[in-house]
Amino acid sequence: MRAQLLVVSLLLLTQTASAQSRERVEPQLRRTPPAAPRTTTGRWTSVTVEGTRGRFMTRARGGPSQDRVDIAFVAEGYTRSEQADFVSHCERVMRLFESRPPYSTYSKLFNIHYVFFPSTESGIGRTKAKNTVFGAHFNKNWSFSTGITGDRAKIQRFVTAALPGDCEADRIAVVCNDWRSGGTSWGKISFSTRKGFWANIPYVSPEWPLEDTVAHELGHSVGGLSDEYTSGGRDYDHAKVLNYIKTWPSPNVTSFNPLPTSAVPWQSFAKKNEVPWAHWIEPASRVPSKGPAVGLYLGALYSSDWAYRPSKKCAMKSSGSAPFCAPCQEGLILRFHAFSKPTRFESTFEGDELVLRIHSVLPQWTRRHRARSRFPDALWERIQWTWTKKNGVYTGAEARIPLSLIPERALVLEVDVVSNDPAVRKRESTLQGADFVLRRPPSRANATGRDDGITGALRRQ
Ligand SMILES: [Zn+2]
Repeated sequence: MRAQLLVVSLLLLTQTASAQSRERVEPQLRRTPPAAPRTTTGRWTSVTVEGTRGRFMTRARGGPSQDRVDIAFVAEGYTRSEQADFVSHCERVMRLFESRPPYSTYSKLFNIHYVFFPSTESGIGRTKAKNTVFGAHFNKNWSFSTGITGDRAKIQRFVTAALPGDCEADRIAVVCNDWRSGGTSWGKISFSTRKGFWANIPYVSPEWPLEDTVAHELGHSVGGLSDEYTSGGRDYDHAKVLNYIKTWPSPNVTSFNPLPTSAVPWQSFAKKNEVPWAHWIEPASRVPSKGPAVGLYLGALYSSDWAYRPSKKCAMKSSGSAPFCAPCQEGLILRFHAFSKPTRFESTFEGDELVLRIHSVLPQWTRRHRARSRFPDALWERIQWTWTKKNGVYTGAEARIPLSLIPERALVLEVDVVSNDPAVRKRESTLQGADFVLRRPPSRANATGRDDGITGALRRQ
């Protein structure tokens, strides 16, 4: 029952899982290189916030802050002489982004920052705050069912002030320098202890690594996922479960009123009930499921009898060491998209051509395009995308259009890209679109001042 150690994880959804951004792309006279970062990766910078001297470093940089998921790891309960410990603990968390899907498969979407402000005392308080920079402490006398809290307003102020002006932390993961296991997510800010042991008897118990706790807590704070474990010392009754799900709907926990009293075929169940992960369930499944495939497993949300989860095992059920189940992976990936822009669109005049470009940091994207208004046939046929392949994966596409084919009046070409990752079945939620404006360069239009005489049948796509 290691799951019990996970402690309370409050979930406050602040953003829906929908990227669906569109932008208008006007052609430029020359290509603009991506903005250079103001910070150097892997080097500490000193900062003073409200009279407290500290430091920050950008540990990994996937791209400009506004297009990436920025996570700040913040030290709490580390004395000045324990700064190296904080770094080595954070380096363990970095393993998530190297080897734990979906964090690892989407690592290019993340910017990771370390923020260190020293505490006077080491560790965090058991029942009330110690003399630490953010006053983090377990909620009550430490036990299975307690969460961690701290001065979240101060944490937010310090992180905002410590990070450079062009960086904004989407999520803050506070690393508490305490051997007692625990983790709590309060919306944007989560707390995890550096190391966990089974209860408070470390000599008989396996270590519960920080990276597992953080994997789970980021599941809440980034992925909007709910807890799939059953106890934590505060079993929910049916009314509480239903109310929770109504208040904080999530992709991995659900309940019904009434619940089926015996096993029923999934297909007849699905006709009457909406399940957030229905698109992952095999037609031959039964409710409740016995495994091993994705289905409806009884027991979730601190309740053995009233809530369902999608899978037998999941990082949201245990300490975080298990892989995320398919609906949880998808939920996380959709939120990665909601927080970031993996695709960049660009259009430039080059010689006698207008060049449209799609750059993506993610592999395997599909794209489609359509004309917003009537396009001359000769132009429409010349819009062909050439894909760039790097190490076997598609990273971008380019279309070159002769300026002579572009009519006097500007036309708009709508281009959409969606994820082609098999871990995502709700493709539309990853949509990023561009409205490419097809026009002639200003000087050229003035110089020629005439229609190029494109004739023939027009069509709408
Ligand atoms: Zn799950």
